[in-house]
Amino acid sequence: MEDALDEIDADKTAQYVLSLQKAGGEVMGDEYGEIDTRFIYIAAQCLSILGKLDKFNTDGAVDFIRRCQNFDGGFGLVPGAESHAGQIFTAIAALDILGRLDIVNVDLVSWWLCERQLPSGGLNGRPEKLPDVCYSWWVLSALSILNRLDWIDGSKLRQFILEAQDLETGGIADRKGDMPDVFHTIFGIAGLSLLGYENLKKINPTYCLTQRVVDKIRKN
Ligand SMILES: [Zn+2]
Repeated sequence: MEDALDEIDADKTAQYVLSLQKAGGEVMGDEYGEIDTRFIYIAAQCLSILGKLDKFNTDGAVDFIRRCQNFDGGFGLVPGAESHAGQIFTAIAALDILGRLDIVNVDLVSWWLCERQLPSGGLNGRPEKLPDVCYSWWVLSALSILNRLDWIDGSKLRQFILEAQDLETGGIADRKGDMPDVFHTIFGIAGLSLLGYENLKKINPTYCLTQRVVDKIRKN
């Protein structure tokens, strides 16, 4: 974001990230070995930004993500785990970076994602959960990558996010009346950007970075 990628040792960083990928393609969060779809996304994103994706075991990573896909079209943390909007984002965004969106059942998962919108306009992360501003990102980004943003009511969601802003401090909370924090503030703003909110920079749904930054990465 600061146009300063040349400040780091990209080879060394890529080497570290690649050291966390196991022989089967799964990616660990650190040397202690926890494995799930989040780490595949993070590794793919990192290597993509550094222009080092060619050394990643894409087939193995895609196979792991495929095994995390459920009967409802969604994705869980690990094979057999229930579908969760956060994991659906990491799975779909990783597949987008790896050029393998073809394994996604687009209409089925988009149906699951748009079912996350509640009468308040807010989105939840799983059935029976409360709506939460951060899912404006996890759900919307996935729908945006799949070109199904119009499957939810954008104006109601926009209202839900705006109502979660604390007018005293300016921060955004998980929902109206709660304490704001930076986590919900970034995902609230990112969600509003995906909804086309006035005067916000365009955000890229795959990287959660501004489109300007992603265009620059792709050029290099
Ligand atoms: Zn949240």
